[in-house]
Amino acid sequence: MTLALMPLRYRQPFRLCLSGLHCDNKWYNKVCAGGSCSTELAEITVSVVTECGWSEVNESAGEDDECAPDEGEIPMIDEELADLWEEEVCQKPDFQNNLCLQEIWNKMNELNVAFETLTNYTSDAPKVKLCLNVKSIASTKNAQSQLTGVTSSPTVNIDINSNELDRSKLSVAKTILHELIHAELLYWVAEAGGTAHFEEYAQNYSGTDPFKILLEYFKEHGQYISDSKPGWHHEYMADNYIQYMADGLKKLAPFLLSSSFRNYVDGSRFYTSSTEYVDWDWDEFYTGLAWVGLDLTSKWDDMDEITKRKYKGYVNQLKELEVSAAKCN
Ligand SMILES: [Zn+2]
Repeated sequence: MTLALMPLRYRQPFRLCLSGLHCDNKWYNKVCAGGSCSTELAEITVSVVTECGWSEVNESAGEDDECAPDEGEIPMIDEELADLWEEEVCQKPDFQNNLCLQEIWNKMNELNVAFETLTNYTSDAPKVKLCLNVKSIASTKNAQSQLTGVTSSPTVNIDINSNELDRSKLSVAKTILHELIHAELLYWVAEAGGTAHFEEYAQNYSGTDPFKILLEYFKEHGQYISDSKPGWHHEYMADNYIQYMADGLKKLAPFLLSSSFRNYVDGSRFYTSSTEYVDWDWDEFYTGLAWVGLDLTSKWDDMDEITKRKYKGYVNQLKELEVSAAKCN
């Protein structure tokens, strides 16, 4: 975003938002001169760079350019391996016929986001054999992952809940990433011969990936119980995958978020209580999204209440402010 013709006394453009949801449509500047401050309507020019959208907003915070690849931080992805893995993912007809899910999945593949999210933590190509589907699930869950087939050749079916698709495309992408991690974990256990053989298999495991750690999580946290116990999968995800999911969402965002949403929230603030507000920060936004579904975990519990409200606030902003054209209906 480019801010043009800003007066020297300009400080920060912002929108007035009440209850974190209802934002005034106008931009304001807080102007301070001679010891007194006032608020006045701001004139700004917005131009969006399609590849990276909102990166220039960081101008006020420093010289960081989010568009510039940082060779030191971004691991190289084996494109060929990623393409091979993606090609092997099966898609059921209903998934293939859903234009919105196709748009999201194709973009995830084009940017290698799925492959990268799974690979970044293990430093190893994903093992799971996947089948993607969309169907009506009789619950408010966004999706479910289930293991099928024999243990020598297991497949994980990811079912996206067709009743819960009236969400932003980026939020649906988050769901897919979340389920992909479930799928990978399910596959690793299947490879061990199921939970009954988990311990024995892990004790003799000679691979270099973090397989043995899974056993510790399994022993400590046990299985998932709806609405009461997050289970070892979610504890593992919360401890190890938040940043990678957030990174993936950041790559997808310029393509899956509407420009109206991006422009609207960029530089804005929202209130999480009558006195507490959050100045929009894109990295925090992606982290907040990545936490969805992991808010019963120990790591979430250990977080301070202000941070929890902040992350929930970001998710709420997306839910309330994204336009319907950028949702899967
Ligand atoms: Zn989950």
